[in-house]
Amino acid sequence: MFKCDKCGICCSHLSKCELYSNLDRGDGVCKYLKNNLCSIYENRPLICRIDKSYEIFFDTKMTRQEFYELNYKGCMELKNKYGNKEEKDVSKTTY
Ligand code: SF4
Ligand code: SF4
Repeated sequence: MFKCDKCGICCSHLSKCELYSNLDRGDGVCKYLKNNLCSIYENRPLICRIDKSYEIFFDTKMTRQEFYELNYKGCMELKNKYGNKEEKDVSKTTY
């Protein structure tokens, strides 16, 4: 299973991806992000579900681990760009 550390950064910068425009409350933050957590987690859309998205769209294109690595890379880029000082030290990030 994909390991998310719940930093909330991806859910706070939705304007970077057109696919999430219907979730954007207008300032790039998801309208369902409450106290930095997803308030509809059990019912979140498919585009927010890494494992399910892999099974539906990518399992014939790459391994699950390769898909995870691409997503972890995206997480790192977001953390490096928008995270706080501690989060910017990617050596401390564990997945
Ligand atoms: S940026 Fe990555 S680690 Fe942070 S909440 Fe999003 S998926 Fe989880
Ligand atoms: S629905 Fe939940 S997981 Fe998806 S972007 Fe919004 S807060 Fe994040």
